[in-house]
Order: sequence, then structure tokens, then C-alpha cells
Amino acid sequence: MRDMRKYKYMVLRRSSQVSLLFLFIAGNILGWNALRGNLSASIILGKIPLTDPFALLQIFATGNMISAEALEGALIVTVLFGLVCGRAFCSWVCPLNMVTDLANRLREKMKLDAENRNPFLSRKARYWVIGISLVLSFATGVAAFEWISPISMFHRGVIFGMGVGWTAVLAIFLFDLLIARNGFCGHLCPLGGFYSLITRFSLVRVRHYKEKCTQCMKCTDICPERQALPMVGKTSSMVVSGECTNCARCIEVCDDDAMRFGIRYVS
Ligand code: SF4
Ligand code: SF4
Repeated sequence: MRDMRKYKYMVLRRSSQVSLLFLFIAGNILGWNALRGNLSASIILGKIPLTDPFALLQIFATGNMISAEALEGALIVTVLFGLVCGRAFCSWVCPLNMVTDLANRLREKMKLDAENRNPFLSRKARYWVIGISLVLSFATGVAAFEWISPISMFHRGVIFGMGVGWTAVLAIFLFDLLIARNGFCGHLCPLGGFYSLITRFSLVRVRHYKEKCTQCMKCTDICPERQALPMVGKTSSMVVSGECTNCARCIEVCDDDAMRFGIRYVS
């Protein structure tokens, strides 16, 4: 029973990521109406717009016009993740997460973590990349991160066929595998950083129960954002960091049932 539960959220997350990719392929190639567009701007059933709020902010910085539909889409996405689901975009939606998770899993299997635990990269680097993206967007008149985003390259590549985008995806895979654990998603990606900033007060959260915790620390070992779990073994409380991706790996790995999803402000 425990073994099946161990992979429950992983199966759900992968199903979510693959299903969304399938719907994008069906919408863009087969003409289905369920979901059309891309991760920056899409539309559900031809009626509900969804816009990446970080992409919108970059376009705003370029000085270009923003449509009312794009604004509405950004508002929907901001409310969905910012107030409800937390940084779940990263672990439940983003297709590149499947690549970085694979690299980090292999890194773990190859025991590359022992001597080389992110010796030079700060987790704050992603917030600098956000700032640099906005300044460059303002200076060049082009949405800077959108222009080079490996997430968009991978997403477009899966739907329409991969061109040179493979090199960016491969570079990120090798970076996470050989250079830094969770190097891209946990340190550099400005989109993940942006969602960390806007999801600080979201409702769906992991809760830690100190009275059940045996301090095995498996949760902090597996967590891609381990700084989000300072309370483990010390206090019973919710994860408050916006950097938590609600991936539920800490819940799956805990044999003591000391981690669970909960709703913030509801005890
Ligand atoms: S950090 Fe960036 S690449 Fe990683 S899962 Fe989040 S959005 Fe995708
Ligand atoms: S605290 Fe748990 S849910 Fe949040 S990122 Fe870490 S492992 Fe995932």
C-alpha cells in the first residue's frame, strides 16, 4: 500500500503535464477546440484566455500594446496560481520540468551530489534574471526571456517538431546532471522565480506535523527547494515559501505521514 502511495502524486503530475501537451498538440495540429496556443498565450474552448503573467510583464516593458484579452488571461493565471495552487505551474504544467526531474534523478542515481552541492549558484540568481529580462525587454523592445526561453522552445518543439531547440534543452539537462542539482529550475529560471514571487500567499500548501516526524529528513533530501522546509522536526506548520512547487515529493517520501497537503489559514 505504502509503495503505491509513494508514486501517487508523481503519476498525477506526469499525467497533468502529458495531458496538457496532448491538448496543445490536438489544438494546434488537429484543430481541437479544447486548448489552443502555447504556454505564453492560450485559449480554452475558444472562450477563456490564459496568459503567462511574466511574458505579459516583459511585453509591458517593451512598450508594446497589450490587449484586453491578454490582460484578462494574465489575471486568470495569476489568481489561479497566486491565490490558489501556489507554484504548481512548475511541477504540474511546465514540460521542461520532466527533463530537469530526469536529470536530477540520474544525478542522484549516479551519486553526483556527494561532493558537488551547487557550489557556486545562489537560489537568488533567478530573481536577478527576472530583473535582467525586464531591463533587456525595455532596452531592446523585445520580450527578452520569451525570445530565448528553453521552456517555449521545448513546448513548441514537442508540438511542431524540434529544431535547434534541442540544444537548449540538452544544455539544461547536462547542466542539471553534471553541474548543479536543480540548477535551472531551482536557481536560474526566471519564470519559476516569478511564480515564486506571486505565490507567497497561495492557499494550497504542504503542512508538516512535528508530532509524527521522526526526523529522518527524507523530505528535505528529496525536496527540489529544500530551503522551503526549515520547520521539519522543529515545529508543526505550513510551508510558507513561494519557492515550494507543490510537487508533493516530500509527502510521497515520508513514511511517517508527517507531511500532507492542506489549506492555508484552515487548521
Ligand atoms: S523553474 Fe522554469 S523550467 Fe523549471 S519547471 Fe518552473 S517554469 Fe519550468
Ligand atoms: S516542500 Fe514538498 S511540495 Fe514543496 S517543493 Fe519541497 S518537496 Fe515539493
